[in-house]
Amino acid sequence: MSQLQRIAIAPSQLQQEQILLTPQQQHYLGRVLRLRLRDRFIAMDGKGKWWLAQLQGEKAQVLEPLPVETELPVSITLMVALPKGNGFDDVVRCCTELGVAVIAPVVSDRTLLNPSPQKLERWLRIAQEAAEQSERAFVPTILEPVSFSTGLVTETATHRYICEARGSYPHLREAINQVSTTSEMIIAIGPEGGWTQKELDCAIDARFQPVSLGRRILRAVTAPIVALSIVAAELESVAFN
Ligand code: SAM
Repeated sequence: MSQLQRIAIAPSQLQQEQILLTPQQQHYLGRVLRLRLRDRFIAMDGKGKWWLAQLQGEKAQVLEPLPVETELPVSITLMVALPKGNGFDDVVRCCTELGVAVIAPVVSDRTLLNPSPQKLERWLRIAQEAAEQSERAFVPTILEPVSFSTGLVTETATHRYICEARGSYPHLREAINQVSTTSEMIIAIGPEGGWTQKELDCAIDARFQPVSLGRRILRAVTAPIVALSIVAAELESVAFN
């Protein structure tokens, strides 16, 4: 099964055990992947379902649903203050590989970038590619960028952390010690210039716990990847034991 190629489909493409392929998907399967009639591939709907499918020209026949075991035991949202340049592309790619459920870009007081509307489309494409590559069952949701203050008030996760590079705060690894594998978690990461004191105070008021990622100051692009790696290592080892 591991050698089979994977493509992402929209749930609406699946009708009565058949997948209606778009012209782009037909081109990709036939010309790029060089699949022939009746070759098998995996279709993923990006919402947790995979199917073994067989190519039949403009359609594919669903042969059977496939079990998926590549998701983290906890739903993790990363709230990331947009870094400058194309740094957010790397955040989306790496954090998708690491198992993030939702990426919430925010504009904070020291954010230097004003994202163009095309950026969201680009991030969604990167997330989809990374989800396929890492054999995820879910393509993470990427929200429209909002201000940090809006992001704070709309948050509903039970476990909330804000990463702060300076100060004496518990390490994220210790802080998530008591998190059960059925809960939801959000982790906020600041921009190059860091959070302002006011932002940190507002986050604490919104029940975010300040945490450290270690003694070194990480780049704004590195910090989300490190945070997610810590959580994945900690919670997956609990789930495996
Ligand atoms: N300019 C800030 C300073 O000198 O304090 C550093 C900002 S850092 C480049 C960008 C963001 O990454 C921070 O706002 C924080 O969220 C996160 N970060 C980086 N290193 C961290 C660490 N050791 N512990 C916790 N968060 C960290």
